[in-house]
Amino acid sequence: MSQTLVTALPLRSPGRPAGRHPGPPEADQRFAEEYLRHFYGYKPESERQKRTADSDVNADWPTGLCDEVQRMQRFFGLPPTGELTNDTLAVMRRPRCGLSDVEPFGGTIRWKKHSLSYRIAGYNLPVLTSKVHNIFRAAWKIWSNVTPMKFRKRGRKEADIVISFHTGDHEDGSPFDGTGGILAHAFLPGLGIGGDVHFDADEDWSYNSTGFNLFAVAVHEFGHALGLSHSSDPGAIMYPAYNVAPSYEIQLSFKDVKDIQRLYGISSNFASLSSKNPPPRTPDKCDPDLSFDAVTELQQEVLFFKDRFMWRKHPQFDETRITLISSLWPESVPPNLDAAYQNVEKNVNLFFKGHQYWVLRQLRLEEGLPRNISDFGFPSGIKYVDAALHFRNERYTVFFTGHECWRYNEQQMMMEGSATLIEQQWPGIPTPIDAAVFSEGLVHFFKGNIHYRFDPSSKHVVSTSRTNELLECKKNDDNEILSEGR
Ligand SMILES: [Zn+2]
Ligand SMILES: [Zn+2]
Repeated sequence: MSQTLVTALPLRSPGRPAGRHPGPPEADQRFAEEYLRHFYGYKPESERQKRTADSDVNADWPTGLCDEVQRMQRFFGLPPTGELTNDTLAVMRRPRCGLSDVEPFGGTIRWKKHSLSYRIAGYNLPVLTSKVHNIFRAAWKIWSNVTPMKFRKRGRKEADIVISFHTGDHEDGSPFDGTGGILAHAFLPGLGIGGDVHFDADEDWSYNSTGFNLFAVAVHEFGHALGLSHSSDPGAIMYPAYNVAPSYEIQLSFKDVKDIQRLYGISSNFASLSSKNPPPRTPDKCDPDLSFDAVTELQQEVLFFKDRFMWRKHPQFDETRITLISSLWPESVPPNLDAAYQNVEKNVNLFFKGHQYWVLRQLRLEEGLPRNISDFGFPSGIKYVDAALHFRNERYTVFFTGHECWRYNEQQMMMEGSATLIEQQWPGIPTPIDAAVFSEGLVHFFKGNIHYRFDPSSKHVVSTSRTNELLECKKNDDNEILSEGR
């Protein structure tokens, strides 16, 4: 492995006995063990716990933990290497809900009545009381829109669901952790504390785009209070990681709606509501009509982009799972990309959308970006590119715009001449194209649901297949993650 964007942490320190997994630095390992214990039911062997004061900082990575890391990686759409890679750690460090990702309660526990009362208790309210009340009312409405459930606020009297803000240990066995980390948790339907929702009062809560969006987290936690468990569908509101983009409307996904309606049935006005504003479906790799926005190499992986999502194909693993673009590049890479490529020599990734482009080194956006694509030497008439194709050995990039393509010299950082026709340079490739990538000696073009393999030396299309074939469609991946035994 060369550059280190998705490289595993220290591979092997000298003098280490063979046969055990070499470990990451101890602080990371402790953090990961704690994360897996909390969210994935990992039970450390008592012997592992006893670390002597003089223990090696690169203490061996417990072999049993690999399975748990893989399980977590599958849930979040990371390549299931079982190793504590930098991007696995980065996903573990994202703010999230305090509930487990693997406890199999989903779909079995529910309220037996269709009218529930809630109460907002205590002080510690992060924003104006009236605002908080409005936010919670709107969050309940998200769920009552699609089910026959009714939610009524009560002042001081007993209520089915008590909503409150707490700091640190608040005596329910699940202490909060200050800013970041765990944002909130909720209890499944039941008497007493059942259905109650707790928010971490130490977070920077807001009802606009700064800090953590209280509305988004409330909709998620209310889902638990109604009996839903976590979903590995990154488009679902029940996805455990905090995932709010300023431009994205907070709404139930198709999966959320299906899951809550399985528990409580369908609201009488659901048909008319959903015909006007259907709940968004997360792209499905098994969809025979799947198309891509952009495709790029990233170290040894190939990334396929669609909307806010991507699939990561690692050469060692047949399976691919969907994840959010923001799980790898939080807040810096926009959704609905036009094109993307990796410049290995400069160790950067470039992303294109409309007239703008973004450059990321490692996981960071370079300063002064995004900028206008005219930097590459496009004439002002070119408002966007369809695809970008990078040749690392020859150090040039081909941009595709409509029926034309442009050759950009990466060394001299300038366009080589003017545009040529795609049908001359790449015979057999229909235009305009969606995406292109050079991988393993072939150019892969994507248009709609067709994938064209093109041999650049003989200049012809070698074969075609369905676009989604590369993603190894397997049904019920979601269920597999949750039901995998240990
Ligand atoms: Zn949750
Ligand atoms: Zn609590």
